[in-house]
Amino acid sequence: MSDTHVTPSTTRSTELYERAAHSIAGGVGSGTRSHRSGYLPVPVFVRSGQGAHITDEDGNDFIDYVMGQGPLILGHRPPAVIDAVTETLRERGSLFSLAHDLEGQAAAAVTARMPSVDLLRFGQSGTECVQYAIRFARSFTGREKILRFEGHYHGWSDAIHWSGHPGPDEWGPADAPAAAPGSAGMPPAVASTLIIGTWNDTDALERVFAEHGSEIAAVITEPIMGNMGAIMPAPGYLERMRELATEHGALLIFDEVLTGMRVAPGGAQELFGVMPDLTVLAKALGAGVPVAAVGGRGDIMEMVIDGRTMHGGTYNSNPLVCSAVIAAVQTTGRPGFYETLEARGRRLADGLVAAAADAGMEACWSGAPSMFQLWFAPAPPAGYRAAHEVVARSPFPTLYAELRERGVLIQPPQEGLFFLSGGHTDEDIDRSLEAAADAMPAVAAALERGDVGPRGGVR
Ligand code: PMP
Repeated sequence: MSDTHVTPSTTRSTELYERAAHSIAGGVGSGTRSHRSGYLPVPVFVRSGQGAHITDEDGNDFIDYVMGQGPLILGHRPPAVIDAVTETLRERGSLFSLAHDLEGQAAAAVTARMPSVDLLRFGQSGTECVQYAIRFARSFTGREKILRFEGHYHGWSDAIHWSGHPGPDEWGPADAPAAAPGSAGMPPAVASTLIIGTWNDTDALERVFAEHGSEIAAVITEPIMGNMGAIMPAPGYLERMRELATEHGALLIFDEVLTGMRVAPGGAQELFGVMPDLTVLAKALGAGVPVAAVGGRGDIMEMVIDGRTMHGGTYNSNPLVCSAVIAAVQTTGRPGFYETLEARGRRLADGLVAAAADAGMEACWSGAPSMFQLWFAPAPPAGYRAAHEVVARSPFPTLYAELRERGVLIQPPQEGLFFLSGGHTDEDIDRSLEAAADAMPAVAAALERGDVGPRGGVR
């Protein structure tokens, strides 16, 4: 057994998990924290977080790359955000459901950052704001159909949670993917409002627009396919998507829930230089406080003014979240913030690839340095179905288990991501790479004996 290897105790976490299961369905608050997502042997029960670290209920310390599934762009408990929120709560209140100055300040901070966003409205979650983006698109164009792509996740609503992670038994032909519901209980009739596309395939996109162009209200895309291991768009692909949408009178919606405020100060639209009509933001927008936004072209967003497009919500732009947005935008806007974040992310990603190579495995990474994925393959997959095959042959769950034993916490599935934050220090990266070097021989052994593919289980 090597220096960095200590099997973490899970006694108290197991107790808490079992107790919680008496009153919370499945013992955890979301499927992504559960056994099913690969959090074995038991889901991580966090006591507290600080910077890049979390301490669990058994007293184990982990360098965290889950980062709240992306929001914690400044790490755990960033002083600027915690101070702003605490002061607002203490001095002003948590909720008025009436107008206040922090709403306008927060909105102005965001529109100044996001090149395509003239006007916006805040909400609570990515799911909710995607739903609003779809509603804006349908009301603006007077059309019904939404083109969405296999392998992308846009939240769990009935309107869009289709073909997020379909399997071969349900995904249909590659040139005309079937609409596969993402859950039981979704009305089959909704499928007729959707067209499922094959992402990163320009010819396929041309064909869909040629056939259905006049019916499409909007095409919605993650600009980086972040729910299947951070697959980058092929050069020119998003540009062509932009052109086709414009030619056919459809709107382009960028779901920047993962990429916004993360992959560049102005999100993926700035990174790629492609401007959508509507943008959805969430996650890093509030640096860990639950807030989201839908925004875009003024002529579209103005449809809320006379009530043609309804947008409401008791909790929208409450003072608590607005003060977090202002602080998050200010802090990430400091000179050098994104450069440092990216340099550390790149060092980690390159170092993981090197550690895998040292253990005799072919590996590479894809995505942006602050949200990337490691693949045990010579090159990253270009699309969903190719990625699905890589996942089936990947020893990634062993990497998760071996790193967890060495004090580094990552998302268990190969479909997940490594998230960097302003809380990660050079020392955290060094320690993570030491743990990775130590863990990789066990990963190579798993690959060798065919211990590959998704791992999980139902509680
Ligand atoms: N869109 C994307 C691209 C996402 O990654 C997610 C969540 N992971 C959502 C939408 C849904 O956001 P939320 O969980 O805040 O509802």
